[in-house]
Amino acid sequence: MSAFTQLRLDGVSRRFGGQAALTELDLTIEAGEFIALLGPSGCGKSTALNCLAGLLPLTEGSIWQDERRIDTLPPERRGFGMVFQSYALFPHLTVRANIAFGLRMRRLPKEETRRRTEEAVRLVRLEDHVDKLPGQLSGGQQQRVAIARAVVFEPSLVLMDEPLSNLDAKLRLEMRTEIRRLHQSLGLTTVYVTHDQEEALSLADRLVVLREGRVQQIGSPRELHTRPANWHVADFMGYRNLWRGRVEQSEGARATVESSGHRLIGEVVGGLQPGAEAVVAVRPEDIRVDGPGETRNAMSATVEVVEYQGRELAAEARTDSGLLLHLRTEQRIAPDDQVKLAVDPQRLLVYPADASTQPD
Ligand code: ATP
Repeated sequence: MSAFTQLRLDGVSRRFGGQAALTELDLTIEAGEFIALLGPSGCGKSTALNCLAGLLPLTEGSIWQDERRIDTLPPERRGFGMVFQSYALFPHLTVRANIAFGLRMRRLPKEETRRRTEEAVRLVRLEDHVDKLPGQLSGGQQQRVAIARAVVFEPSLVLMDEPLSNLDAKLRLEMRTEIRRLHQSLGLTTVYVTHDQEEALSLADRLVVLREGRVQQIGSPRELHTRPANWHVADFMGYRNLWRGRVEQSEGARATVESSGHRLIGEVVGGLQPGAEAVVAVRPEDIRVDGPGETRNAMSATVEVVEYQGRELAAEARTDSGLLLHLRTEQRIAPDDQVKLAVDPQRLLVYPADASTQPD
């Protein structure tokens, strides 16, 4: 269905006044890929999406569908489907008419409009609601209409800007599966904006992490999860433990870092010399509680806070020298317990600290 084999953003930048919202975004999207743009509020995700859609002119750079330059085209000539956080449905039109709207605008033959509309209705499972008005639907159903409306004309690319953020937690999970199913069954090329790393990891083939308008990393969910490119990305990918320290030794990919009186061994990401300021990053689930006979990266700590999260506990513990550890465990621990904690050196990542910012 795709009208291209590759979509390429080449040095795409957008400023507002003197303020850079997006700086030199280079990204090649293959037909059929699901790309998530991920990052904290204000990092430039929506700006990137709106540049792609044609809703915002670029300040610099270009966008290409194969050999065809498209950043000079108005939105309607790019032929992309869009789904926004606010569903933007027509309140006075039925579900069926909302979905058919784009096809009517394109003056498709009546029979084809009917056939495609019915197909889209089935895809998003709204068969029982076609004659209702948007006001008579739940939030999840309205979002389904918005999605059907965006995919009904078989666009070459679907752009989604936080489409699930108005839904409650349960519906969000259901719709997530729904979007992935639609993507697979239609072979759609999708660019999806979210600030929710879990959502991005579960949906996307590749993630683009932005910070202050600049790409920090582009990679598969596994790459981003196991090897964030810098500690900002690690922070964003759920490495709750970010400890400042100083490199004592480094050899190949391994380094020993002194942090709050602890000597920690980990894997270096990026070059680091002895004496350099470093940030150590560890995910809560990678801290083991009472690891049998573990000597490397072992720390004694006192449990301070425990919170139930389903099968697991999320807890905070503090070592005698004051290092605070966020951990997740299935072991039953309680406040004031003395625990032995350990981290596998492969799961302890050592990053260069940058001069401008520090972890909290
Ligand atoms: P959020 O998740 O909060 O929507 P975002 O990552 O999508 O954030 P953008 O909306 O792309 O971020 O904004 C990036 C930067 O550009 C922000 O600093 C924002 O204030 C600024 N910005 C966005 N739109 C405009 C505008 N129309 N005029 C001026 N500044 C803007």
